[in-house]
Amino acid sequence: MQLYSYPDPNTWPALQQRPAAAEAPQVAARVRAIFDQVRTGGDAALLALAAELDKAALASLLVSATEFAAAAAQVPANLQAAIRQAKANIEKFHAAQREPELRVETMPGVACSRRAVPVQRVGLYVPGGSAPLFSTLLMLGVPARLAGCPQVVVCTPPQADGSVSPVILFVAQLLGITEVVKAGGAQAVAALAMGTASVPPVDKIFGPGNRYVTAAKQLAAAEHGVAIDMPAGPSEVLVIADATANPAFVAADLLSQAEHGPDSQVLVLSDSMAVLEQVQAEVTRQLATLPRREVAAQALANSRAILLPDAASMMEFSNQYAPEHLILATDNAEALAVQVTNAGSVFLGHLTPEAVGDYASGTNHTLPTSGYARQYSGVSLDSFVKKITFQRLSAMGLQALGPAVETMAEAEGLAAHARAVTLRLATLANASAITESSVTANGSASLPANPYAGLIRPSVERMQPYSSARDEFEGMAPVMLDANENSLGSVGPDDFSRYPDPHQRAIKVDLGQLKAVAPNQIFLGNGSDEAIDLLVRLTCTPGQDGIVICPPTYGMYEVAANLNEVRVERLPLTPDFQLSADAAEKLAQSTAKLVFLCSPNNPTGNLLAQEAVETILRTFKGLVVVDEAYADFADAPSWTTSLAEFPRLVVLQTFSKAWGLAGLRLGVAYAAPALIAYLNKIKPPYNISAATQQHALAALVAAPRLPKMRAALLAGRIWLAERLPQLPVVERVFPSDANFLLVRFNVDATAVYDQLRARGIVVRNRTTQPGCAGCLRLTVGTPAENAQLLDALTEIGGTVGVGQIISSVVVN
Ligand code: PMP
Repeated sequence: MQLYSYPDPNTWPALQQRPAAAEAPQVAARVRAIFDQVRTGGDAALLALAAELDKAALASLLVSATEFAAAAAQVPANLQAAIRQAKANIEKFHAAQREPELRVETMPGVACSRRAVPVQRVGLYVPGGSAPLFSTLLMLGVPARLAGCPQVVVCTPPQADGSVSPVILFVAQLLGITEVVKAGGAQAVAALAMGTASVPPVDKIFGPGNRYVTAAKQLAAAEHGVAIDMPAGPSEVLVIADATANPAFVAADLLSQAEHGPDSQVLVLSDSMAVLEQVQAEVTRQLATLPRREVAAQALANSRAILLPDAASMMEFSNQYAPEHLILATDNAEALAVQVTNAGSVFLGHLTPEAVGDYASGTNHTLPTSGYARQYSGVSLDSFVKKITFQRLSAMGLQALGPAVETMAEAEGLAAHARAVTLRLATLANASAITESSVTANGSASLPANPYAGLIRPSVERMQPYSSARDEFEGMAPVMLDANENSLGSVGPDDFSRYPDPHQRAIKVDLGQLKAVAPNQIFLGNGSDEAIDLLVRLTCTPGQDGIVICPPTYGMYEVAANLNEVRVERLPLTPDFQLSADAAEKLAQSTAKLVFLCSPNNPTGNLLAQEAVETILRTFKGLVVVDEAYADFADAPSWTTSLAEFPRLVVLQTFSKAWGLAGLRLGVAYAAPALIAYLNKIKPPYNISAATQQHALAALVAAPRLPKMRAALLAGRIWLAERLPQLPVVERVFPSDANFLLVRFNVDATAVYDQLRARGIVVRNRTTQPGCAGCLRLTVGTPAENAQLLDALTEIGGTVGVGQIISSVVVN
């Protein structure tokens, strides 16, 4: 190991020269010849090259099931345990690198997202050579598996007896990898790039190797359309050791790289001549006892000990060299770490030998060598995925963005680009003209041009909405001092120090996609209860205006009216809980500002007949609010599909029922954008908390789970609906399109209610609701809860006396 004392910075490039570089042209020529041989000879060429280069006479290229089966028994238990420990750490660090799908609405109606999709076919090169590097298989196989790559092919050179190291096979089995090819060197890379009868071609080749492997990967990338992880070559380490370093530790680290191969390179920098001298002495002493001392000694011939004036120049030298491994053997490693600009992986302090990263700390050991750390990262989960971007424009989005794209395309002279937008904009313009004329054609010609004329409370029309800090400044700046938040963070475990998005854009994009509506047709409330309250306040002047409800129905409509001093007009449902025949006519004559139609209705459970609702939509002059809190359980299309046709339609839905998120408090109103804009004008600025927004987004991602839960609840409803009528105390179970059943008892329902309560079962007593005399409302629970309810009702049936039997006359 040559010692250099305070070399002039002009001479640094020479000192930073890698040993392999000089031979590069010959290596490239040999690799090209091997590629030609594999292209023409296929499997036969691989067998011939195994005989020539690995001295192995192979019967077959693929590792057989018998070889796999025999592997584990040949791996000592302590090595198996160590491998499992390493695998766990590597899995933990790489699994944490997963990124959730990125979704951004760049402007209203323009939804962009990015999703990681695994590379479909990957080839992992595991060096065998002088030592079988089973650790490399862990480092490549774990992220390949975590990323979900469907095809994983391993190539590794055979040993002279034609076998593959049992440890490599043991690791392959741990990772569930079954395709292991006995091929090494440039020929393995050629086979993975071009494919042979036994070796499938792959999309991306990973793995470190000697200079032939590196050159082969570069050729594969340049000429065979295959991606590679990075150009990886002979191993190298640079140690920065100041006066606090332990020379024996440093020497051991240098030798741990030097023993990799004769073309490895190790450098040690110090600002202390004494340390360098001691390191050199230690290297000589430790080398003598190394089994691979001949290899290490050759590598040491390419290696250097360099005395530099201070930490700054050591860091500068290291950043210029861009080492694969950088060890900061100093007390102040953290301070130096922030100055690292080029390195593959960095080892901090005196107790972090580079060997831990090679095997088991969790970081990846497949790292850029030969100065490529200037522009490449080491292998990570990202190396095994592609990030695919998606975008979807709504009509509104295209109308807003289209003209800019047309202008830019025209300026670049790309007329077809411009036309792709122009054609669509024209179609949209035609479609909206047709919709407007069809409204006129179907009898609504007398409607005023503004569908909300006279419906919005004058004070709401006049008022200026509150403009929140987040309305005036969107996004994040380095210094946020506009909203009187606490910049220090939050008391409590999670950071909620910043106000949430007042417009809940991300949720509206996702929800809009799920429900096939535009984000500007969505209002989000603190439960749909908030939307109910705001709709009453948006339309009704206290003491003057009124709303219509159809009892028996959800109680909050009336409460919201009472709270706001708004008159309540009633259009009772028929005994089978449908709108009465004259409901539409009565509504057409009413001056009420809005009608609440609950469908499926609470507490009766049934859908309202579609034609009756439609007639009201066509004839009533106020807002028609269809409350679909339970629509997820019904087999009818949502009224959201009619939003374009009926500008005064508002559809309410909630995350409280089928989504199982009642505690989150998130309700939705869908309506025409102009109506949603009114609701936004009067809502409290930050009505949906950050916690709710985050959780709702996660729930939307999990939306595919919804049908299964719904099906389970519906099965419970059917189960109860079949059994309840058989109980002697039950007079009638009303048909339900919801997640509950309205049940009329032929005994005192309140007594039944009390007795259920005494048994720890709480249901809803609806006996005082119009049309619901003798009725309890039973929510469908888990199968066990349903069974418990049925058992309790059976028992209660035996205890209620004759005197408690009541008349089942319906009281409206
Ligand atoms: N509408 C109906 C018909 C309901 O039954 C309920 C809740 N029971 C709501 C609205 C209110 O739901 P949220 O939890 O979204 O406020």
